[in-house]
Order: sequence, then structure tokens, then C-alpha cells
Amino acid sequence: MAGEPQADCLFCKIASGEVPATIVRETETTVAFRDINPQAPTHVLVIPRAHHPDAASLAAAEPQILADVLAETGRVAADEKVDATGYRVVFNTGSGAGQTVFHAHAHVLGGRGLNWPPG
Ligand code: C5P
Repeated sequence: MAGEPQADCLFCKIASGEVPATIVRETETTVAFRDINPQAPTHVLVIPRAHHPDAASLAAAEPQILADVLAETGRVAADEKVDATGYRVVFNTGSGAGQTVFHAHAHVLGGRGLNWPPG
């Protein structure tokens, strides 16, 4: 069923605590943790606890939880003090765009200059 934990999903395991991560924020519906391979001084992932393969499928199935994820990106940016200087929120969607973990997640990147367009 959509949203149910998947046994083979790394981010479901991080959400449940089975796999360790450096968690910076948690809510009833979301978990935010530091990316293991940071691409900027601030690089935090915000995930829904519910399993959906990407942001679009999350939006279609549980739009309020996508809103929760987005609200958390703003709180992470404030906690990390990158909200004043600017930060980027990215949902890589599909392998052609660099998605490697198929559990919806927002990257929050900041703390350095960010080029546009992204590579
Ligand atoms: O958008 P994409 O699917 O590529 O993002 C997945 C992210 O998950 C990567 O930035 C990767 O470094 C991160 N990751 C992590 N902890 C793991 C495995 C992957 O933070 N245990």
C-alpha cells in the first residue's frame, strides 16, 4: 500500500531508526538528517516517514506530508543559519536527474555560493 514502509528501502530504515543517521530534526511525519556525502557546508535531507518513491508521487498521494517536508526545509535552513544568505531545496527525481534513493527526499544545501543552472 502507498506510504507503507518498504523492507528494502534505506530511508525507511533511517526513519525507523534501524539504520543510523545524524538526525537534526524530527516531526510526526518527517525526519531531517545530515547527508553522508555533503556537497555543501549545510547538506541536510528531509524525508517523509511514509514511503513514496519521489516527490511527485508523494504530492499525489499525501500532499499534506509534502507540505510538511517543505516546511521542515525552511526550519532546517533557519537552524543552520543559511536562511539569510540563501539556500537551495532540491528534489532529484528519476535516475537521469541523479536520484539514487527512491524514497522521496528534499536536499537542503547552503553555506556556500550555489551556481545556476545546476549541473
Ligand atoms: O537525490 P539522491 O537520491 O541522489 O540523494 C540521495 C542522497 O542520500 C545522497 O546525497 C547520498 O549521499 C545520501 N545518503 C545518505 N546516507 C546514506 C545513503 C545515502 O545521506 N546512508
